Amino acid sequence: MFICPKCNKPVYFAERKTCLGKEWHGSCLRCEKCNKTIEVGKHSEHGGKPYCTLPCYSALFGPAGFRSGSINSHRYD
Ligand SMILES: [Zn+2]
Ligand SMILES: [Zn+2]
Repeated sequence: MFICPKCNKPVYFAERKTCLGKEWHGSCLRCEKCNKTIEVGKHSEHGGKPYCTLPCYSALFGPAGFRSGSINSHRYD
């Protein structure tokens, strides 16, 4: 039995997704930034929380050079 780190409820085998070394409900594994469900393998992690690699993680955390220039004109909030 695993406990989902998002909702703290039990995760059963059929609905679990393994990410960041934890077991999540598929519907609970969402990007902290845009709140979309995350596909395992297309996510990145920061501070123990999942983000979609593109565009959220790249926009928020780098790589450093990527943040300069045109990306600054795009606001996500
Ligand atoms: Zn959950
Ligand atoms: Zn996102």
